[in-house]
Amino acid sequence: MNKTCDVIIAGGGPGGICAAVAAARNGMSVLMIERYGFAGGMATSGLVNPFMYYRSKTDSKHYLPGSVFMELVKSLSKNGAIEKDGHVFDDEIMKILLDKLLLDAGVEILYHSMVTGAICKDGLISRINVACKEGAQSFEAKIFIDATGDGDLAEFAGFKTEKGRKEDGACQPMTLCFRLGGVKADDWKALDMELNEVFKDGKAKGEISDPRENVLIFRTLRPDVVHFNTTRVIARDGTNSKQLGEAEIIARKQVWELFNAFRKKSPLCRDSFIMKMASQIGVRETRRVMGDYVLTADDVVKAKAFDDGIARSSYPIDIHNPSGTGTVLKDVEGAYYEIPYRCIVPKGSRNLLMACRAISSTHEAHSSLRVMPVVASVGEAAGIAAAEAIKGKIGVAEVDGINLKMKLFRE
Ligand SMILES: Cc1cc2nc3c(=O)[nH]c(=O)nc-3n(C[C@H](O)[C@H](O)[C@H](O)COP(=O)(O)OP(=O)(O)OC[C@H]3O[C@@H](n4cnc5c(N)ncnc54)[C@H](O)[C@@H]3O)c2cc1C
Repeated sequence: MNKTCDVIIAGGGPGGICAAVAAARNGMSVLMIERYGFAGGMATSGLVNPFMYYRSKTDSKHYLPGSVFMELVKSLSKNGAIEKDGHVFDDEIMKILLDKLLLDAGVEILYHSMVTGAICKDGLISRINVACKEGAQSFEAKIFIDATGDGDLAEFAGFKTEKGRKEDGACQPMTLCFRLGGVKADDWKALDMELNEVFKDGKAKGEISDPRENVLIFRTLRPDVVHFNTTRVIARDGTNSKQLGEAEIIARKQVWELFNAFRKKSPLCRDSFIMKMASQIGVRETRRVMGDYVLTADDVVKAKAFDDGIARSSYPIDIHNPSGTGTVLKDVEGAYYEIPYRCIVPKGSRNLLMACRAISSTHEAHSSLRVMPVVASVGEAAGIAAAEAIKGKIGVAEVDGINLKMKLFRE
């Protein structure tokens, strides 16, 4: 199978899905290549939930994400798969709805296939290599979109990337999300307090090795099922198979320790059971692909707007300590900040765009823009930009970011 199409999207997470749908709806033939057998990225494979806040901080009726994300929220709502305020969702139903969203838009989906390399000369990718079940394949397209979360395709093509914080390159820790069923969760505050006491005690006695400062739990759509965003694995690189595998093993051990402590010492969890662990450990941060503009912490906190601002967010800087305990939070001091188009075009790129968390930003700014509604908006912009570049027979850097902003935010 050696395939040619207008746009190839590598990765089917929140960014890749929205890029694929937007490009297809703008008349492009689109192929989305995803390593797992379903779309959704961290939302499904990583069991990440809920969608973080996606409204203006000064006007709660003003939704910030692009239209494809909002359409997904509506579709989840119509199918009873998201709570009323649009945050906690059902990740299994989401898989089904995402297939439909993509196929209805005319996107060709290639699951169970992993992008492993690229041929790139003078900023132009001519083909990519893909490991399919049937063996190594090669694909051509006019525009490529990297939605791998990790910037795999940009790295394979030789574009400039950075990783982690400035002083030592350390990235935010990984977390294996899991859910306990059979929990008495009617009194949420009591449950939260009880679990945190057990956690503290278990840490003091050396029974819990998790370096996190506390237990972080979220409600689910089921009253007795509790979502845990609580394990923490530091000093492992999410772009290295060996280290990623080690992280999975460390995290599963943490789940086991936590579960045993909770069922033994928390009366509210006495009858609980491990309902689900994510198919893969959640990776918060890896590469960032450098573009002509690098989004900074100051841009985020000062709620900066840009002429070519193609995505908006009011989510704070949120850095889980790469070295162990603690989390740094810094609020956006305004309604929202914007992400310029220049952040999604790798420096020197002629036909590669970014549609994932790996966009041009600092470690601090990345900690804010990485959340799902924001990445989805970045993806939608990338999909439209890809179509503009193809229709105008221009390179991706020549796409008019100001025009793109007007198209995305008709206000
Ligand atoms: C533990 C954790 C908790 C989080 N909590 C929240 C939260 O509560 N709310 C929130 O909104 N956000 C949260 N986030 C952030 C958010 O989930 C991610 O940053 C977001 O999903 C990034 O989207 P993406 O499209 O860039 O990447 P991903 O969601 O990682 O999607 C990338 C997709 O590309 C595929 N892929 C990767 N490499 C290749 C390849 N080489 N070839 C083919 N396919 C490939 C992957 O399988 C995946 O489907 C959390 C993240 C983590 C890790």
